[in-house]
Amino acid sequence: MHTRDAVFLEDLCPKLRVRRWRQSLHKSTGQSCIYCGKPSESIDHIKPLSRGGLSVTENCVPACLSCNGRKSDEEVFDWYRQQRFYDPRRAMAIRAWVDGDLRLALRLLEWAKPNTDKKAIKSQEQDWTFQAA
Ligand SMILES: [Zn+2]
Repeated sequence: MHTRDAVFLEDLCPKLRVRRWRQSLHKSTGQSCIYCGKPSESIDHIKPLSRGGLSVTENCVPACLSCNGRKSDEEVFDWYRQQRFYDPRRAMAIRAWVDGDLRLALRLLEWAKPNTDKKAIKSQEQDWTFQAA
């Protein structure tokens, strides 16, 4: 049984589990950066690990390398408001994401980016709840 094997393998290999969780985060936004909408190439910790942020879904968002690097250790909303690509709908989406309401967050992101393939986003709904910790 492939499903059983997969679960067993993930239990043995936490790294594989984290990798799948990261992939599911990227898929949830259609592989796009939550801040600017460019292709997401990394996972950004909204509250940085250096400040006690956790590697859980609520604290981890898909981000492009540029946003991830520039945001650095700044408070996320302070930083985001200063960006040229600032979009209040995305800011609301980030707030909802942090609050753990990914359903609302993704709906707001769709609103900010009307060209998003909504089917692709819907098909990933079941993956959101996983936490790496
Ligand atoms: Zn970005």
